[in-house]
Amino acid sequence: MKNDFPNPVKKNEYDIAVVGAGASGMMAAGRAAELGAGVVLIDGCDRPGRKLLITGKGRSNVTNSGDLKDFIGAFGKNGRFLYRAFSVFFRDELMGFFRARGVALKLERGGRYFPESDRSSEVVDALVSYTAGNGAKLVLKSKVKKLLVSGGGSGRKVEGVLVETGERIPAKRVIVATGGLSYPLTGSTGDGYGFARELGHTVTCLRPALVPLETEESFVRELQGLALKNVEAELLCEGKTVGTEFGEMLFTHFGVSGPIILTLSGKAVELTERGKNPCVSVNLKPALSKEQLHARLQREFDSFGLKSYQNILKTLLPKSLIPVFVKLSGIPADKKGNQITKSDREKIYGLLTGFKLNVKRARPIEEAIVTAGGVSLKEVDPYTMESRLIKGLYFCGEVLDIDGVTGGYNLQAAFSTGYLAGESAAGGAISNFETTIPKK
Ligand SMILES: Cc1cc2nc3c(=O)[nH]c(=O)nc-3n(C[C@H](O)[C@H](O)[C@H](O)COP(=O)(O)OP(=O)(O)OC[C@H]3O[C@@H](n4cnc5c(N)ncnc54)[C@H](O)[C@@H]3O)c2cc1C
Repeated sequence: MKNDFPNPVKKNEYDIAVVGAGASGMMAAGRAAELGAGVVLIDGCDRPGRKLLITGKGRSNVTNSGDLKDFIGAFGKNGRFLYRAFSVFFRDELMGFFRARGVALKLERGGRYFPESDRSSEVVDALVSYTAGNGAKLVLKSKVKKLLVSGGGSGRKVEGVLVETGERIPAKRVIVATGGLSYPLTGSTGDGYGFARELGHTVTCLRPALVPLETEESFVRELQGLALKNVEAELLCEGKTVGTEFGEMLFTHFGVSGPIILTLSGKAVELTERGKNPCVSVNLKPALSKEQLHARLQREFDSFGLKSYQNILKTLLPKSLIPVFVKLSGIPADKKGNQITKSDREKIYGLLTGFKLNVKRARPIEEAIVTAGGVSLKEVDPYTMESRLIKGLYFCGEVLDIDGVTGGYNLQAAFSTGYLAGESAAGGAISNFETTIPKK
C-alpha cells in the first residue's frame, strides 16, 4: 500500500488505522484526520457506508429530537456508558455537521430526523467527503483479518492490522468500527467481536435486537403487507404485561414487524430464550375507551341492521383484515347487523382490543436491525473509547455492547462514539494535538 496521505507521519506507519467505513468508522476517521492525524480507513466492501445506505428504508433516520435523558434511556441499562460521547458530540453537533456539508435535515413523527432529500446516499456522501477532505486514506475491498499487538501482560499495545491479502498495515492506534452481525451483505459480519475476543476482551451474549417476530398463527400470510397505524401492541407473558408500544406495525408472511414490534422484540427474544411463550396483543382501537367502543359498535349494528356483519366491519377495519377477523370471531359473515347479539358484540370488542398473536421465535440475527451484546463496556473507557486492556485500541459503534430502540438513536450513538474515538485516538497518536474535549 502506498503511504500517500497528506498528513506528516513516520514513513510506512499511519497514526491511526480505522477498521470499518460505516457510520462510526467514517466519523472516527474524519475527526482524527481533521485533527491532523495520518489516518487509513479500511473496509472489506467495495464502497463505504453500505449499511448506512439502507437505513431508514433508504432515507436514514440519523438522530432524534429527544433530550439527553431520552437518548440514555433508549439504550436501557447500558445507556449510561454513552453520557460522555453524547456530551462531546450530540444531536445539535450532528445536525450542524450535516448542514455544513449541504445536508439539511427534517423532523418527522416520533422526533425522527431524516435528510430533507429522503436520500441516505447524501448522508454517506457527507461522511466520505469529511474523511477524504481531511486527508484520510480510504482503502476498500480489504478485509482486516487480525489486529497486531506487541508486548505482554498489562504492557500490550497495538501496532497495526493485518489484512486478508497478508499485508500488514502499521499504525500507532487502531479503532475497531466493524458494526454488528445483522444484514451481513452490507459487510457487517461481526469480525470485530472476534478481534476483541482474541485480545482477551469479553464479548457479552450476541443476540438479535429490533428484530421481526415469527408467530404461531398461519393467518398472518393472508395479511402480508398490511400496515396498521395508531395501534397499541402489548407484549404479554403468563398473563403479565411486559411492554406496551403505540404506533405502526406490519404483517409479513412469517409474522409481524414494523416500529412497535421491533421495539418490543428485545423483551420477546429474552422471553423465548428462557423457554417462555410470549404473545403480542394488539388493540386496534386504542383511542376509544371501553364505553366509547361499545357505543360505537352498538351504533354501527343498529344503523346498518340489514347489512351483513362482514360489510359492517368495513367501517371499523382495513379491508384485508376482515376475512381473518370474521373467522377468528366465529360469527357468520352474512349474519345481519340487527341479529348481532350482546355476546357477539363482546367477542368483536374482545378481538378489536386484543387481537392476539403468539410469538414462536424471533427472526435470525441476520435480519435484525441491530445486534444486542458486544464488547463489554466494563473493558472500555467511556471517556475515550479506549480499551482498558490494550493500549492504543479503541472501539466505537455497534461492536460495543450497546443497542437502542428505533428512532435514530443507534446512528446517533455510532456517530457520537465514532467522533469521540477519533478525537481520543488522535490525541494519543500525535503530539501537537489540541482537544475540544473537556478534561475528565
Ligand atoms: C435495515 C436497517 C435499517 C436501519 N435503520 C436505521 C435508522 O434509520 N436509524 C438508526 O439510528 N439506525 C438504523 N439502523 C442501525 C444502524 O444502521 C447501525 O446501528 C449503524 O450502522 C452501526 O454503525 P457502525 O459504524 O457500528 O457499523 P456499520 O454501519 O455496520 O459499519 C461497519 C463497517 O465495518 C466493515 N467491516 C466489518 N468487518 C470488517 C473487516 N474485518 N475488515 C474491514 N471492514 C470490516 C463493514 O463492511 C461495514 O462497512 C438500521 C439497521 C438496519 C440493518
